[in-house]
Order: sequence, then C-alpha cells, then structure tokens
Amino acid sequence: MKKRIVVLGAGESGVGAAILSLKKGFDVFVSDMGPIKPRYKEMLNQHDIMWEEKQHTREYILNADEVVKSPGIPDKSPIIVEIKAAGIPIISEIELAGRYTNAKMICITGSNGKTTTTSLIYHIFKNAGYNVGLAGNIGHSLALQIAEGRDYDYYIIELSSFQLDNMYEFRANIAILLNITPDHLDRYDYDMQNYTDSKMRILQNQTEDDTLVYWADDPIIKKELEKYGIKAQKCPFSILEKNGMIGYIEDKQYVIERPTPFNMEQEELSLTGKHNLYNSLAAGIAAHISGIKDESLRKSLSSFEGVEHRLEKVARVGGVQYINDSKATNVDACWYALDSMTSPTILIIGGLDKGNDYDAIIPLIKEKCAGLVYLGADNSKLHATFDNLGIPVADTHSMEECVEACRQMAKPGYNVLLSPCCASFDLFKNMEDRGEQFKDLVRKL
Ligand code: ADP
Repeated sequence: MKKRIVVLGAGESGVGAAILSLKKGFDVFVSDMGPIKPRYKEMLNQHDIMWEEKQHTREYILNADEVVKSPGIPDKSPIIVEIKAAGIPIISEIELAGRYTNAKMICITGSNGKTTTTSLIYHIFKNAGYNVGLAGNIGHSLALQIAEGRDYDYYIIELSSFQLDNMYEFRANIAILLNITPDHLDRYDYDMQNYTDSKMRILQNQTEDDTLVYWADDPIIKKELEKYGIKAQKCPFSILEKNGMIGYIEDKQYVIERPTPFNMEQEELSLTGKHNLYNSLAAGIAAHISGIKDESLRKSLSSFEGVEHRLEKVARVGGVQYINDSKATNVDACWYALDSMTSPTILIIGGLDKGNDYDAIIPLIKEKCAGLVYLGADNSKLHATFDNLGIPVADTHSMEECVEACRQMAKPGYNVLLSPCCASFDLFKNMEDRGEQFKDLVRKL
C-alpha cells in the first residue's frame, strides 16, 4: 500500500509539501481548519490532490502514516493532540523536503534577524554567481522547489522555532544561530527554556564536516552550547571581543579571520545599526567559508538594500523622518531599533502582546523618546508601564489616528519610529499590512 501523507495547513509550506509528497508517489490529503487561498486551491487541483478546508475530518487524517504540520498550527490544537495520541509521526515541511535533496543547506535561526540575514546571504551567493535557492519562511517553500526539480547547489533557509520543533533527521551544513531572546512564549507554555531548546535544534545532526556560526555575546547561547557535544566547526562572532572569534569588529574594520583573513571598512556595510553588524558578520562568515571571493563579498555587503518593514526609511515629511519597523514584533527587536536612533524619537508601540516584559527597553525609551504613541485594540498594559515616565503619550486605535498623533507630536529633526514590540493581529491582517498602512498614510501627509 502507498504511504499516506496528510498535510495540515494549506499555505506556502503545506501546498509545497503536498506536491512533493505526490511526486514521491505517496497518497496525499490536505486539510486546513481555515479557508484556503484561491491560488493554493488551484495548485492542489492542478495536481489532483484531495483537500478540505474549514474542517479537519478525522477519518481522512488519523489514518496517515506521517503528518506534515504547518508551523502556524500549535501543538495544543485538538487535531494535533489526537494525531499524537494515535502515535502518528509529525514532521515539518523542511524535514520532509530535506530528505530529497543533496544541496548544501545553510540554515538561519534566531529570535531576530533571520529574514535580514537570510536575504543578505542569498544576495551574496547570487551576486557571486552561485547556483542558489532561497527557502523556509521566505519566498517559495523548500518542498515546492524540490518538487519542481530545481537543482540548486545551495539552499539558504530561514528556520523559525516552529519549523525546528518538527525536525528530526534534517542536517544543516552551515547552521547560523543569531540570538535567543524571549518571543512566541505563548506557544511554549511561557517557558523560556522550551523555546530555547527549540532554537538549539538547529545543531542536531551536524557532523565534523559542518559549521556552526553563532553570536558569542549572547548569554543564553553561550550557556546552552555548553550542554551540547558539538561536532561542527565553531565560528563564533562578536562585536565586543576579538579573542577566539572568527568574525568581529576592530578599529572600525569588519574582520573575518578564517579560512583566510578578510576585512573591510565597517562604514562600507550597507546595513546600519548594531544588530545589523551581527547580521552582516553572520552572513559574511557563511559566505567566506563557502569560498566566495573577497571582492565579491565586499561588494555584496555594501550593496544589500535591506528588507521591507525592517528599519525601513519611508519618507521625510516636514523635517521628520518616518521609519517603518513593523516587523519588530518583540521587545528585543525594538531595543535594537531604538538603540540605532540618533535623533529624538516618537515611538509607536503596541498591538497584540505575546507576554512582553518591557523592562529592557525602559532605559532606552527614557534616553531616546520624545513621545510614545500607543497603537492597539487594548492599550491598558502600555498605559500601566509607560505613562509614569514623564514622556508625552497618545492613545490610538487605528493607523489613521496613530499617524495623526505622530504628526502632532513630532518636531522637525525628530524620527517617528513604528517598532511596536507586539504582533499586529488585533488591528491588522499581519505585520506587512500594518507596515503598508503606515507607509501609505505617511506618504499622504
Ligand atoms: P526575523 O526574521 O527573525 O523576525 P528580521 O530580519 O525580519 O528578523 O527582523 C525582525 C526585527 O528585528 C526587525 O525589527 C529588525 O530591525 C530587528 N533585528 C534584525 N536583526 C536583529 C538582530 N540581530 N538582533 C536584534 N534585532 C534584530
């Protein structure tokens, strides 16, 4: 009998997993508790793959040999509980896809900076003429690309903790661990160690032939690494020290030590802000050990334009610089955004709180902020946390109100920074929608 694969969730990764499973000769069924987007329905229909939406029919699911779960579905959802109780293995799309390619896998995880670093590495490899694909949380799913027979030598893959949770045999040839700070704790029983363990899964299955690139200044990573018998070649990077590091900053020079010395002026890096120094070091190390020529690496590190919704300069209106960092959905991301501000800043903060502890950003808010604009369906926690800092605040519940409040508060020379520390789903479709609405309204000012 054919092996039966059931795919839960018909988004980019689920549809890719279904098509790949079909091509591998499996019996495939796709089930989504929500509505499936028309273009994904069309793709499933084109391949004659059975699917259902707005329901999970147990009799079509609990007879699976293996389930591929989309990263968005929490472990606590009833269907997952039942699948586990039935003893059916659950894997992620990346785990499935990884079985069917011999390409070198460069995998990036961390609480913040994944998309930026992944895109930067892809930019470097592509410019160097490498035969390279981009996958994971970005662009087309890995499974779909493999199903379509793309014969890449390398894949640059952004991995979230949710994907890593259901990865077991997958092996990253180069694993990049950017940082570990609290995020998504609602999905990890509000236990930081659970979330940390999930991120550390990027190391599993690595051998002496592989490489682990990691941020050595991160106290959590430092402590965690001691628990693992790491076989991979270690490539730590830091901006605080040089000893023992493969990548670092010294006298305003960006340096990579191995396998051959590489350096360039820090000023020539196109991405700005401290956090982006880390991202640029991580990316540069991965590229350098993959044999990318110095001149090409230098050029790419200085030509990368950044990614939308990440500290994206929108416009200067009436002498005020508006910056869209809608992707800052946790406190750490906002910390780095504030840290990189060089003028008085009106900070737009708020949304769906994932269990945030705002203590870490209070000193920076005091130092950098000339005003706070709360933007959320429920701003009560923000009022309780920030109202007593002696900084003007405004309470808003839509992007129109918010941009208007910013316009009134900001003086020439100020920044207005949307870096909200929170998810967007209380008022917006997603963080992109939040960023787009912000940009549209700013451009109309
Ligand atoms: P991710 O894909 O991990 O969410 P992004 O590259 O999309 O990361 O950036 C998310 C947010 O985090 C942005 O607001 C960005 O400015 C900030 N950020 C980027 N890199 C880092 C980093 N290395 N450390 C902390 N914050 C970062």
